[in-house]
Amino acid sequence: MVGLLGIEDELGPKRVIHVYEPSLSLNGILVVDNVAAGPSIGGLRMATDVTLSECFRLARAMTLKNAAAGLPHGGGKSVLRADPTLPRAEKEALIRAFAGALRDVEDYIFGPDMGTDEQCMAWVKDEIGRSVGLPREVGGIPLDELGATGLGVARAVEAALPYVDFELAGARVAIQGFGAVGMHAARFLSEKGALLVAASDSSGATRDDAGLDVTALIEAKRNGQPVRDFADGRAMERDAIIAVPCDIWVPAARPDVIDLSNVDQLDTKLIVQGANIPITLEAEAHLHRKGILSLPDFIANAGGVICAAAEYAGATQQAAFDAIEEKIIQNTEAMMDRVRADQTLPRQAATEMADIRIRRAMDTRRWSIF
Ligand code: NAD
Repeated sequence: MVGLLGIEDELGPKRVIHVYEPSLSLNGILVVDNVAAGPSIGGLRMATDVTLSECFRLARAMTLKNAAAGLPHGGGKSVLRADPTLPRAEKEALIRAFAGALRDVEDYIFGPDMGTDEQCMAWVKDEIGRSVGLPREVGGIPLDELGATGLGVARAVEAALPYVDFELAGARVAIQGFGAVGMHAARFLSEKGALLVAASDSSGATRDDAGLDVTALIEAKRNGQPVRDFADGRAMERDAIIAVPCDIWVPAARPDVIDLSNVDQLDTKLIVQGANIPITLEAEAHLHRKGILSLPDFIANAGGVICAAAEYAGATQQAAFDAIEEKIIQNTEAMMDRVRADQTLPRQAATEMADIRIRRAMDTRRWSIF
């Protein structure tokens, strides 16, 4: 069947809504992709260049991520075409108006994404009562402050250890993007004896082959210091982090940072994708051929959405963190079993796992994607 929008397939999208009100400069889109497993969860992205196709791709990525994580939620995403650095009152008015327009779309639960944060989610909750990633004061579990995604990244590494030839104690770790995901991944890995040998942020990098003091580096970064100014490390150019010899390389910054032009600079044994799509598909296949294991984003960085789903269900912080550990370890192990049995790429194995779960959920419904 050729779709009306040109993006439809057997999984979705179930619903695409354009919200447009020129008098408010309100121009947004919601894509609810697939809700067979339950109401969709996905972030609200605010940026001046967002598009329908980006919104759809992100919604589909959430369908796969939520299914792979075994959550009772489908995937959706919303985008607002606006400057995320608008004055607070204008941003609040826009987000409230957008949420209000989507009040009746009960199978979409708002979450934070690029350009939005927990404060924005509090406005959405106040407006329509349906959002995750909330401030603690209104029932939230502050996942970035606590390091939900970083915890999952670290546990994915532990689950993958039987497939690599090193121990975590003493393993050298390099982290690209020492932000919410990267710093907590460093913290949880160092708690298990790994050494952080290099870290970068948008303005530079720092390195110490004997191991950086993770607690001190986090403290310095939280005080607004770029990592390259860290007194106990050796400053480097930002992208020099790619070639740092290490056992575990964690991209936790931006999409598409590794492609065929720089993939051979990597000098590592295991890659754990903290960021979304940090490595192009061609570069991922190239790594696989070279025998370098790369754990895909939607398995390794699902800690944030697992935490958000737990928050939505009213679970405690402890229960949320237990769920992250359990689900990410199980999923990484199940994915690696498939990789070994089928000699396939980890991303392919993970996508097949998610696809099976989505189709089983669809089989339980009267209408396949409703
Ligand atoms: P963040 O803004 O807290 O941190 C990002 C860090 O990356 C910052 O320190 C920034 O300076 C640095 N950075 C930006 N460009 C860089 C570059 N080219 N080279 C090196 N460093 C660079 O963001 P975050 O919440 O840690 O998210 C990081 C990535 O992980 C994003 O792609 C995000 O979409 C993804 N992600 C985040 C979560 C989460 O729970 N926060 C969950 C899943 C995926």
